[in-house]
Amino acid sequence: MLKGVFPLERFSGLGTPFYYYDVHLLQKTLDIIKEELKNPSWQVHYAVKANADPQILRLIAAAGLGADCVSGGEINEALDAGFQPGDIVYAGVGKADWEIRLGLEKGIGRFNVESEAELEVIESVASECGKVAPVSLRINPDIGAHTLAGITTGLAENKFGIYHALAESVIMRTLDMPHVKFCGLHFHIGSQILDMSDFAALCNRINDLCARLDRKGIIVGDINVGGGLGIEYGHPNHLPIAAFGNYFEVFRRHLDGHRPVHFELGRSVVAPCGTLISRVLYVKEGLSRKFAILDAGMNDLVRPAMYHAVHRIENLSSDGPEQAYDVVGPICESSDVFGKGIILNECRRGDIIAIRSAGAYGQSMASCYNGRPLAPAVYSTE
Ligand SMILES: *Cc1c(COP(=O)(O)O)cnc(C)c1O
Repeated sequence: MLKGVFPLERFSGLGTPFYYYDVHLLQKTLDIIKEELKNPSWQVHYAVKANADPQILRLIAAAGLGADCVSGGEINEALDAGFQPGDIVYAGVGKADWEIRLGLEKGIGRFNVESEAELEVIESVASECGKVAPVSLRINPDIGAHTLAGITTGLAENKFGIYHALAESVIMRTLDMPHVKFCGLHFHIGSQILDMSDFAALCNRINDLCARLDRKGIIVGDINVGGGLGIEYGHPNHLPIAAFGNYFEVFRRHLDGHRPVHFELGRSVVAPCGTLISRVLYVKEGLSRKFAILDAGMNDLVRPAMYHAVHRIENLSSDGPEQAYDVVGPICESSDVFGKGIILNECRRGDIIAIRSAGAYGQSMASCYNGRPLAPAVYSTE
């Protein structure tokens, strides 16, 4: 079985579980993003929620990307990591007053507003602060992305954004607000999208909407197309870098006009560089199946339990005959399963197991459920 290359000797001296980050791969990914982006009026904002580890954030900020935040806490994390306030965009269906105030006081680049009710609160908070809030409206384009049901966001039935047919009336409201400046439109249709035609459909919807607004004399300054580019979870060794070239090309080809375009990529930037490293605690022979019971659980990496997400799993310690295992964690929940019938080299107690492509929505979604401490981060460059 082909496996990733890891410093096993170093791992053998470390307690498990932990997140291991391949800093060189992250750096290479950032270089490729900058290379493939090409257009100087296009900007990528890294979606902080994918991984807010301070060292990871500092590397991404140093590469010159902006930040996409979904809470006041993330705005603070982004600023601490060195992102420029003007390069921060802030989305979220439920922004609290203190979070809006924080964004205004720090001078963030954009509020991506998800409802008319939110717009009114921003106007009132901005008025109190004596500021003008730069605003984009998050439009729900009613486009389904071909991805896991739990992570599609652009359908009319999802809670996100303003339904596209109502865009015009909400924009008209902003024009009456002295402390709100309407700057552009924002979209985000979901996550782990590998079918580029979903993004092409988004472009068509944006073109139609902008043409309609244009005819009414409404000027859309810029477009934020959100994130969502997927990665190859099944092939971390062959395809460690997401298809950024194809992705940006779709927007170059399908998006009309010459407006600046903003992207909000999270998963595709950080997922491949992270691996959850754990040890086999026990091998248990069930009635009809074998279980490899790990010291990592769903509190460390919740994606398989939460979305039925599939991560490639490798036994780094063994070249023994391949066998099928249900790979499970120690948590007292039946859903604490990383994969069923997974083919691994024969497992023994103490073997080091790699759960690959865990750099996005892994550490950032971890919890202390079952009284378990948070898994620490280990970096390839230390
Ligand atoms: C989560 C999120 C993103 C990032 O999505 P990825 O699939 O990780 O690229 C971008 N924009 C918004 C508004 C989000 O909520």
